[in-house]
Amino acid sequence: MNIIKDFIPEGRRNRPGLELAGPDYVTIHDTGNPSAYADAAAHAAYLQTDTAASIPASWHFTVDGGSIERSPQIYQHLPLDEVGWHAGDGRSGPGNRSSIGIEICENEDGDREIAEMFAAELAAFILEKFRLDISRIKQHYDWNGKNCPRVLRGEGRWEEFLERVKGYMAGDKVPKRALEAIEYWQKKIGIDPEYWKEQASQNEHIGWLLVLMQRIHQRER
Ligand SMILES: [Zn+2]
Repeated sequence: MNIIKDFIPEGRRNRPGLELAGPDYVTIHDTGNPSAYADAAAHAAYLQTDTAASIPASWHFTVDGGSIERSPQIYQHLPLDEVGWHAGDGRSGPGNRSSIGIEICENEDGDREIAEMFAAELAAFILEKFRLDISRIKQHYDWNGKNCPRVLRGEGRWEEFLERVKGYMAGDKVPKRALEAIEYWQKKIGIDPEYWKEQASQNEHIGWLLVLMQRIHQRER
């Protein structure tokens, strides 16, 4: 997983420098911003503004789904052992003090499904790194009742997201959706599935590209 580290500078109000307890949880958010260009890079830039510092607002990762022009991106805004202010449960709440926050982008010029796949993979990576089980993934909602992640909640797909995370934890090198895409192109134009599975297991972006191309192709028909 290629993660771009772009940390909020030390000393800013939204980087309190408090030691994160555990971490004991991963908290999932949606950005709530469907505007074009509201991708991971834009959120990284936002976190460095005075506005974000004054709220104060911060979290650990933002994941976007890329677009036909560019690959999906994951930005990291805080070290994994520092507290961010994202859970809305107060200065000493367990959401803020013991969870790693992941924001999933909604930008309309990006691919949402791919953003979710990457977020699931990142969540699985963090859970495994800190030896946490699937019960340690929380919605922002669980900490303070906010309707977040609003897309996953609104579309009733939280369980589906968890299943995806579990798939990655079980070691799926090529996610189910990419396998489906490979099967699709095998039927359509006769690609060699074994070759593409191997490619996709070595470079995640190839798997996502196949999914994206499949979706565009189906839309255009
Ligand atoms: Zn949230």
